Amino acid sequence: MKESEIRPKELFQKYLELSGKDAESFDNSTFEKVNCIACDSSESKLKILKNGFDYQICTDCGTVFCSPRPTIKDLNNFYWNSKSAKFWFEEFLPKVEESRREKIFKKKALQLFSTIKEKGISISNLCDVGAGSGIFLEELKKIRDDISYYAIEPGQVSSKIIADKGFPVLQSSAETSSDWFDKFDFVVSLEVLEHVNKPLDFVLSMKNLLKRGGYCLITSLGYEGFDILTLGKDSNSISPPHHLNFPSVKGFELLFENAGFTDIQVTTPGILDVDIVLNSDKIPDFLEVLKSRGTVAINEFQEFLIKNKMSSHVWVLAKK
Ligand SMILES: [Zn+2]
Repeated sequence: MKESEIRPKELFQKYLELSGKDAESFDNSTFEKVNCIACDSSESKLKILKNGFDYQICTDCGTVFCSPRPTIKDLNNFYWNSKSAKFWFEEFLPKVEESRREKIFKKKALQLFSTIKEKGISISNLCDVGAGSGIFLEELKKIRDDISYYAIEPGQVSSKIIADKGFPVLQSSAETSSDWFDKFDFVVSLEVLEHVNKPLDFVLSMKNLLKRGGYCLITSLGYEGFDILTLGKDSNSISPPHHLNFPSVKGFELLFENAGFTDIQVTTPGILDVDIVLNSDKIPDFLEVLKSRGTVAINEFQEFLIKNKMSSHVWVLAKK
């Protein structure tokens, strides 16, 4: 898979421009200073400044997080009304939906079931939190239709699409989903954690949705990934106010531990790090040389990143 297949350059550029403008229109006098979102340490130092937003690095666990950050109210308002969010949901996603289904969701569905099999986890129901338009559930169902699938999704339009596809849906955010607490064997959330104002509350909600002994899988962005470490503030992943949280590997472990999970397993199965840096305007000499060695060398290097937990695409599997 290539980055351009899921993020066509022109569309993505337009989105980033809108996003930058939205970020600069925030009134930062209302922002709230927060402790490390992973380990709760108050010791941090400024790491990145972008579009008027500060990102701190925790001196205890190496997590990078936006602080001070917008309030929950301002963030919600941003997600429902901003130009960049509208562009993302109304123009960007519909255009790439089918290629994302093929390139991302199909593969993730296979990976999820192989993880479940490896761990010997048996499940009768599964809930996707922040399910979008339900594509991931559709792909999971194609592989195993002996499981009951559910969705939690705050968006009104998306919730309706999911319901029309025949999945029971709770129109809500994870944090307000108490109607479905203690209900599931497995909960999954793809690419939500990096957006949320209070990561610990989000992870606690994931736990509350589970029955005792159930498993949670979240995928998100990690700071210790090759593309983010290499590109720093020029990384498109560092995009305030959309992406606020970038835990280190240690940070992910501590966050889930603090939420009371056990058997926590952090992996970084991302495959795009090298491609993302090669698509940037800042290709380091090291990568130019690697590129000259050919595709096999590039793939081996990406494999090295995965094996050593140095891709920015992170999976956390944990047990209640
Ligand atoms: Zn920390």
